[in-house]
Amino acid sequence: MKRILEISELREFFGSNPPQVSFEFFPPKTAEAEARLWETIVRLEPLAPAFVSVTYGAGGSTRERTHGTVRRILNQTGLTPAAHLTCVGASRQEVDQVARGYWEAGVRHLVALRGDPPPETGVYVPHPEGYAHASDLVRGLKDLADFEVSVATFPEGHPETGSIDLELENLKRKIDAGATRAITQYFFDTDLYFRFLDRASAAGIDIPIVPGILPVTSVATLIRFSQTCGATVPEWLNRLFEGLDDIPQIRNLLAMQVAASQCLLLRRAGVEHFHFFTMNRAELTWALCRVLGLQTSPTAEVPSS
Ligand SMILES: Cc1cc2nc3c(=O)[nH]c(=O)nc-3n(C[C@H](O)[C@H](O)[C@H](O)COP(=O)(O)OP(=O)(O)OC[C@H]3O[C@@H](n4cnc5c(N)ncnc54)[C@H](O)[C@@H]3O)c2cc1C
Repeated sequence: MKRILEISELREFFGSNPPQVSFEFFPPKTAEAEARLWETIVRLEPLAPAFVSVTYGAGGSTRERTHGTVRRILNQTGLTPAAHLTCVGASRQEVDQVARGYWEAGVRHLVALRGDPPPETGVYVPHPEGYAHASDLVRGLKDLADFEVSVATFPEGHPETGSIDLELENLKRKIDAGATRAITQYFFDTDLYFRFLDRASAAGIDIPIVPGILPVTSVATLIRFSQTCGATVPEWLNRLFEGLDDIPQIRNLLAMQVAASQCLLLRRAGVEHFHFFTMNRAELTWALCRVLGLQTSPTAEVPSS
């Protein structure tokens, strides 16, 4: 029978070497959202993440906002930003121009992705003059400058891939092109992640495969999103949040419980780096970092922009 971790077992983490963490943000759309993001960044900064990444909207739709957020992180914090960059809807020349802009601004870490297909069609068609796949983008970026490049991987297989073997083949292509870290899609079955690591190792993959942790606060949103992104929402999670749509306080408590159990299981099994999909909110990520033994006290002061 599987053992459930008790909260009293947290004590074994305190005083020991805490793991590395990194945080993912998305570029805000409004001034209000920007203020909230900035408050989040300031709150999480003292946790000393290895890097913080900023996503790139479908088809490059957030190009300027992603760039602006990354630049602000670079100029106004001591954090190391990693900018997401995708292949969708842009020529190589356009993508290279964005990457060069990052290099010139002092950004040295990129997360190279193919990008999601446009929601209208749901089908990915490479730009005729663009990078077709993430592996092509990784190679292009490494040819441009000596960027550190992270990539995505999918422990359940990318929805278009159909098999874990093909997923690993693709990850290998990205590593051969120069990627040095993979960040996973979120998952809720920890065994599934470990099986993926075993298979990756058997396939000769030796770069870190960092688990992406999503603290779930709304299962309805999660189910919608998960239909296209290569992650299964287990029935128990669905049941856990059932009927709580209008009670965010309880949903937050459950989100913490679920994510903390997952983090503890991963940590106990030796995971050294956790990547948090923060959804631009500090509280859950901050609390989860505490659970993992990161003891720094974040400040509540938010500098003006
Ligand atoms: C951590 C993380 C962060 C993300 N951030 C963003 C973001 O900021 N913006 C965004 O738009 N999306 C983002 N995504 C989503 C991602 O872009 C999509 O899931 C996309 O569909 C796959 O991206 P990829 O980089 O894995 O693509 P790829 O590695 O190119 O793989 C996509 C599909 O193409 C197949 N394939 C790849 N190469 C070949 C080849 N040579 N021949 C045949 N088939 C091939 C693969 O097997 C796979 O099925 C993120 C995903 C994750 C996990």
